[in-house]
Parts: sequence; structure tokens; C-alpha cells
Amino acid sequence: MNKEEKKYDLYINWLITSNCNFSCDFCDKENHQKNENKPLNIEKIIKRIDKLNKTVLINFTGGEPFLIPNFIKLVMELSKKHFISIDTNFSQHPALNKFLESVDPNRIIKITFSTHVIERENRKEDLEELCLLINKFQDRGFRIYGNYVIHPPLVKRMEKDINFFKERNIKILAPMFIGKYKNKKYPVDDYGVISYSKEEMETIKKFTEKENLTNFKTKGRFCLAGSRALVINQDKISPCWMILKNLGNFEDNWSTFDRVIKCPMSYCCCPLTLDSIANYPGLDLQSKLLRKTIKECGTYSMSESKKITNIPATSLLIDKKIGLVGLFIKNKFPAVYYYIKKIIAKIKNN
Ligand code: SF4
Ligand code: SF4
Repeated sequence: MNKEEKKYDLYINWLITSNCNFSCDFCDKENHQKNENKPLNIEKIIKRIDKLNKTVLINFTGGEPFLIPNFIKLVMELSKKHFISIDTNFSQHPALNKFLESVDPNRIIKITFSTHVIERENRKEDLEELCLLINKFQDRGFRIYGNYVIHPPLVKRMEKDINFFKERNIKILAPMFIGKYKNKKYPVDDYGVISYSKEEMETIKKFTEKENLTNFKTKGRFCLAGSRALVINQDKISPCWMILKNLGNFEDNWSTFDRVIKCPMSYCCCPLTLDSIANYPGLDLQSKLLRKTIKECGTYSMSESKKITNIPATSLLIDKKIGLVGLFIKNKFPAVYYYIKKIIAKIKNN
């Protein structure tokens, strides 16, 4: 059966460890303290997931999942009934070689490796060796993608870096960086204007798919977060990384939404399920699940979505920099507001 046809009813994005052997400069360091890598209680995890009575796609993320001593065993056990995808920095070669020999590629939807070229250079990693190992995974039938997050200082070198992987038959996705760099918000500022310069955007457009340039703007789009997509951070269950409403603890019963919400956030760092990014690998399946769920359960309106996600309406309305006068103009004279916004954007871009 083709991987595209595989069916699951629930997507779980699981931050299985905060530990990481890398220290990329754009990573949230608070979440990456080097704690002890304890083995997981596999039996307890399998029991809890099976209790859901659903076929689940579990995406393991971190930190670095391959630092967990019994991670491969967990994947092997879970993948007997469920599907798995993994985000990794692809640096733990002994564990990766063991994974390559023992895991069935048909149960792994995808493996996303973070390219992190600067960190690899600092660590004096051999990129050719990395590519050879990735090629071995591809030869065994694993679907592998590199993730090249467009951190602003990387823009000037991204063409060379991405071509390096491309020449070795490795597909690279280049999502926008979401966060702050040199006190500037990325990928857009408080006025909704793209923060990369015009020249930088020319380079970015060559390497990033059209969807990547807009998929961070999520407000009002249907999303499975909280209904058939969840995140687990250690033991806590919540709808997504941006909406941290507590839906329960791993071992208890989880309270999920019974309809599909409209995203109440202006921007999202990690959209779980959006119809508009159907071509994004791995999310193509989620997109199908989204349409199926909308058909089966229906949807919440925007105001209902804000209510059940506990997002206060005011925090969504107030555009920090425009203040109350700006807010008044925005609501009463939207044409004037957008004209002013356009002029500000023009000044900023020159
Ligand atoms: S590899 Fe990923 S998790 Fe580890 S430090 Fe870098 S960005 Fe953070
Ligand atoms: S912030 Fe919005 S788009 Fe992102 S996962 Fe949450 S609900 Fe979905």
C-alpha cells in the first residue's frame, strides 16, 4: 500500500524529550537543558495509546528523540498498530543505524531531519557522512526530508546549502523562521509586513514552496487542533503549541473538542492541519483527515472557537503597536487603516 493511502484517525505531536545534544542559536534554550536521558515506560505508553481505540499517527519531536535509550524499541512496539513520524537532528549515528536495520519503513510516514548547518560546522560534523546515512535510509524506503528553517543570518548562504543536499538527492523544505532575531519579529512584524528584506525574499522565493510563504498566517482557517490533532508536552495534553489549554494528563482521560475549530491565532509556528498546505509532506494525509472530520462532526464558528480554546477576544483584537486610536481607525475606517499600513510597509522596505 502506498504511504499516501494510509489511514489514521488521530494525529499526536509529542515532545518526547527536551534534551538535545545540539545547541542551535535559534532554539528555545529553556526547553533544552541537558537532563538525564531516562528510558521510557513503553508498556504504560502502549496501554494508554491503545485505550484510545483509534489508529494514531504519532510524531515524535524534541529535543532529540534518539537520545532516549529505548526510543527505537518504543517506535517498534507502537508501529505494530499505529504510524510514526520523527523529527531528529540525525546526529546519533549508532542509534540511527540500529533503527535502519530494525524498523519497518512502511510504518514510518516520514522522518524530518533538521539541517542546522551552522551547528554542524561548529561541531565539525562530516556533511558527506550525514548524506550517505540519509541515502541509506532512502534506499530502504524511508521518506526523509531536510528542514532548513530560514533563520535570518542563513539567507545569504541558503542557496549553497540547499543545493548541496539537492545534489545528493535529499529534498529540503525551507519554512520561515518564526520568532525574534535582533529585536525584530519574524516572519512578519506587528503590522503584518514581511520582516525579511526585498533581496532576502528574492532568495527565499527560489527555495520555499508557495504555501510556506503564507501558511504561518492562520487566523480563521479550519484546524484539527484539539479535535483530532493534539500535542503532548511531557505529560500535558493541549490542542497545539500555540493554544495551551490543558486537555488532560497523559494517563487520565483526555477531553477533546467535538468539532473542528477555526484557528483563533493570527500566526502559527507549527500549523497542525490546514487545508491550504495539503502539499506539505505528511500534512497531505492530515488534510484528508481534516476534510473527513469536518464532514463527520461539523465546525465551530470563530467566536465559539475563541471561547473553547480560552483565547480572550481582546488579546486577538489589539494590534500592540497601533494602540486604541489605531484600533478605532481600523474598525471605523478600515480603508484608511490599510492605506496607512501600506505606507508604513513601504517606508520600512526602503
Ligand atoms: S537540534 Fe532542534 S531541538 Fe536540538 S538545539 Fe537544535 S533546534 Fe533545538
Ligand atoms: S495555532 Fe491555529 S493553526 Fe496553529 S495548530 Fe493551533 S489552531 Fe492550528
